[in-house]
Amino acid sequence: MKVIYGGGDEGHDPSFFLVRGQVQSSTEQPERARILLEAAKRAGLTQEEPAGADTNAIAAIHTPEYLDFLSGAYEAWQALPGAGPEIIPNIHPARAPASYPRAIVGRSGYHQADTACPIGPKTYEAAIVSAGRALHGAERLLDGEDWVYALCRPPGHHAYADMAGGFCFLNNCAVAAQSLLSDGGGVAILDVDVHAGNGTQGIFYRRSDVLTLSIHADPLDYYPFFWGHAAERGTADGQGYNLNLPLPVGSGDDAFLAALETACRRIALFAPDYLIVALGLDAHEADPLQGMTVTTQGFAAIARRIAQLRLPSLLIQEGGYLAPALGDNLEAFLTGFQEGRSP
Ligand SMILES: [Zn+2]
Repeated sequence: MKVIYGGGDEGHDPSFFLVRGQVQSSTEQPERARILLEAAKRAGLTQEEPAGADTNAIAAIHTPEYLDFLSGAYEAWQALPGAGPEIIPNIHPARAPASYPRAIVGRSGYHQADTACPIGPKTYEAAIVSAGRALHGAERLLDGEDWVYALCRPPGHHAYADMAGGFCFLNNCAVAAQSLLSDGGGVAILDVDVHAGNGTQGIFYRRSDVLTLSIHADPLDYYPFFWGHAAERGTADGQGYNLNLPLPVGSGDDAFLAALETACRRIALFAPDYLIVALGLDAHEADPLQGMTVTTQGFAAIARRIAQLRLPSLLIQEGGYLAPALGDNLEAFLTGFQEGRSP
């Protein structure tokens, strides 16, 4: 079993995080990667460094305007008089058809869903490196590996084809899924992060070749609020190929495992060639974002159940923030996955 990681994300160190009207330090810090890498090794995985990211694979998911924005935004922002150290939007094209602006402040609002995805000098570079790890993991599955863990940071599941949000810039799961489709079969993406995988849902909402499923804290009360509700089932060819399983804020192991059973039945019916797990660990009871109360043992049980689907699986890191249990939670998940795979 392999963990795909080779550094290169440390320069993305966001500082701005707006919580209930107060500016706090971001919980999506470089130290997460070091903790997660150590935990993966404790679980018995061996590290493999990824090759450079294939930008064509990223462009297969994300729009040209958005990639152009991400790659040049920091320089354009810094050229503004009195610019702050990070790009944070202060205006959005809300709830109406909108035209594409020219000014960097307008483009920021167009492409950044919220204030939780500040862009610093090394953000684009880190996002590309992170997507490269997911792509490398997909390559390993195409080569015939049974399962692989891609330690992606920054995370990806809130990123749409043309919009960042919630610490995410490029949708690592979507980029990997598109690459796995080259084999000709279907791909399922199961998102167990405490937040709805809204970007992934949005990218595949009109498609039936990628089944998207997400178990998360109910967006009636929790980020990302506007997406991730049970009634969102997909549209056009994608009708019925998106399944949201929201749970009340504060839900624990039993509720999560019951929802997972529903998700696993849907995946079995779809019978994909590959499974991607959007592996957020922020549903944990001690996570600073406080959305659910899943335990460390609960993550092991979740992993065992997913492993029993017996699908070639790519685990892609999403959320899970600095708390003493972060490493233990990943170790429990990866160990549980190995147990679930053993005969
Ligand atoms: Zn999350």
